[in-house]
Order: sequence, then C-alpha cells, then structure tokens
Amino acid sequence: MKKLNKYSFGIGDRFGHQGEAQLKAFVKAKEAGLDITPVWNKSNREHEIIGTQPGDVRVEADSATTALGWSDNYQVDADHINLDTVDRFIEPSDFFTIDVAGYIGKPASDDEVETFISSCAKYTRKVTIPGISNSYEITNDTIKAVADQYLYAAKMAGEIFRTIEKVKGEGNFITEVSMDEVPSPQTPIELFFILKMLADAKVPVQTIAPKFSGRFNKGVNYVGSVEGFAVEFEQDVLVLSYAIKEFGLPEELKLSVHSGSDKFAIYPHIGSIIKKHDTGIHVKTAGTTWLEEVIGLAKADGEALDFVKEIYEKALIKQEELCAPYADVIDIKPENLPSAEVVKAWSSQKMVDSLTHDNSCKDYNPDMRQLIHVGYKLAAMQIDRYFELLEKYSEIVNDCVFVNIYERHMKLLFEL
Ligand SMILES: [Zn+2]
Repeated sequence: MKKLNKYSFGIGDRFGHQGEAQLKAFVKAKEAGLDITPVWNKSNREHEIIGTQPGDVRVEADSATTALGWSDNYQVDADHINLDTVDRFIEPSDFFTIDVAGYIGKPASDDEVETFISSCAKYTRKVTIPGISNSYEITNDTIKAVADQYLYAAKMAGEIFRTIEKVKGEGNFITEVSMDEVPSPQTPIELFFILKMLADAKVPVQTIAPKFSGRFNKGVNYVGSVEGFAVEFEQDVLVLSYAIKEFGLPEELKLSVHSGSDKFAIYPHIGSIIKKHDTGIHVKTAGTTWLEEVIGLAKADGEALDFVKEIYEKALIKQEELCAPYADVIDIKPENLPSAEVVKAWSSQKMVDSLTHDNSCKDYNPDMRQLIHVGYKLAAMQIDRYFELLEKYSEIVNDCVFVNIYERHMKLLFEL
C-alpha cells in the first residue's frame, strides 16, 4: 500500500507558479536532517475560481520535483472532494481528502444504526484510552448519538473511497478523511467511534482532519485557548494510536491540521506532542503561498506595488462576495480595513509590513491580510497581467514563498 510518510506538509499553489520555490523548503529541511513529504493540494472550489484543472497540479508537482532532482515521495492531493466532485481528480491525484462534512448529521438507516450499536457492545462501560487520565462513561445512548451524527458520513466515505479505488486500483493512493468544515468540533471520544465507523466501512484512512476547538482562520494565527488546544490535540493523538490497534487501521494513521498555515501559537505544542508520542502529522496550508506572491509584488515596488493596491481596492468593493464562501474560516473586522485612498499613498515597505504575518510589527494588519487571502479571484480575473508580474519579479516572489514555508512554518513546527 502507498504509505504517507510520518511528516507531511500540504502546500497549495493557487496559480501554479511556485512549485519549485515551495519544494526548496523541503530540500532545505532534508539537508537539516528531516524528511517531510510535500503534498500539493488544491480544492475543487479553488480550481473553479481560478479556472484550472486537477491535472495542472500534477504537472506542477512533476515538473518541480524533476527540476530540483527530488527523488523522495511527493503527492498530489484532491483536496476536499466528495462524491459529486471526485471524478476529474481521480486520474491525476494520488492523495484524496474525502470531505464528509456535507454528510454529517444525515441519518443512516435504523438497521445500520442498530448494527453499529451492537458492534460497540464491548465499549458500553467505563472506557479508558491509554494515556488519557480521565475515563469515558459510554452507554448505548452515547453511541447512538455519535451514530446519528456520523454513521452516514462514514458510509459515504466508504463509497467515495471505492469510487476512487475502482479506477486507481488497490493500495495506489493515500486516503484522508476530513470533517473540519463544520460548525462544532468533534470530541476525542467521538473521534474514537468515528474511526471505528471508518474501519467498519473499510476505509484505510491514513490521515484524519477533525475540527479542533478554536478558530482556524485563513492565513492568520490560531484564535482560542492554546492550552485547551494542546490538551485536545494530545487526546486525539492518543485516540488515534488506540484506534489503530482496536480497529486494525493503518499503523501510519495521523492527524491532519487544516487551515494549518500561520497557526504559530500552537505549532510548538503540536511539535512537542508528536515528538513525545513519536507520531506523525500532516499540516495543510493553501492560500499562504498566494499571500506571499502578493507580498513579493509589494516588495518589488513600482508597477507591481500598484497592482497590489489595485487588488486591494477591488477587494474592498467586492468584500462581501469574496468572503461568502469562507465565512467559517475568516474573521474580518471591516473597521480595521484602511480605505483605498489611504492605501494608495503607501510605500512598498508599509504594504509589505501590513500584509506580513509578524505580530511584533506594529503595521501588521490581520484583517487586511485575511481580505487579500480570499481575494485571489481578483488576480484570476487579470491572469495575464498577474503572470507577467509574477514572472518579471520572480526572484523576489519566489524567495518570499520559500522563506515563508521554511523559516516561518517548518522551523517552528518541526523544531528544525
Ligand atoms: Zn479543510
């Protein structure tokens, strides 16, 4: 079976120009002694907004790895697919993030629920999970409540998995199951029973993306109790290792953190917990590379800075439309957004400082950063001009992309 390495890092590249710059971060990590597998991910929504095809991601990944002589593993992730969207991803992808969010809460048949409850008979007592000090009092009602929420979703994950397997063949791809794009987080004990459902549905899940507590807003820091997150994350890690043994799931099963870019507050905790339990992690980032392109263009000054200012001006006007699909994963306070008039007079440095995620910088503006994050459609609308600028100022832009992934993310997360 195709296995995902212990450490993997999802990289999105909306416009497909940064494959090599991104890969350089993995090369540098390898030189520093750490193997991290690059996973190029792009969701259906991103393809639709930009007008690309899943095959384009494969081309990018193949050419970047060839250009840099990368002979280790790398994957192409069909990010957040479901039964309606999976088809065109199957051929070019070898990693599938099966998104069951839309199926959660839909009812399974009474028979299926009954069967699941009776298959859990050995857990209807006080359950302790090795390493977790508190125990869980489990009754049939507890199990029924989890089944009502997740059993149908797990069954659908099985169906999607088999749709992919029919084409790709057994063991030829990596399976992730995601349920992060929902309003409320899954508790560790819910996760335990969800993993049983996935095992019953014969989904060889290698990474699972639960919704964690706290806000995982796009491109900005974690919002919530960092200590609370650390406790929950460690319990989830322990649940996974117990579930692997109990349900015969793939031994490399690990957690996947979505909207994982820039969550600097929790990286040291994630890093020390996975080290303590000798387990792996997948961290998925996406739009942060687009933001680095914008920052690089702002840094380039002149016409490139003007382009960035124009994007910002349009983003202000189209704010509502741009934010709508991302409502659950952004928090923009409109009163903190400077007017287009004000921004027009800004220097390159002022723009760079406003958009760069550096909490120690007084000009850093997370509201502006989030607005630009969701504004990539505006660059897609003038794609020729955008590509011309990206190519003309590629040296500055590529360096921003590399530094962001290596210095700001990998170093902190993996304690390099
Ligand atoms: Zn996600």
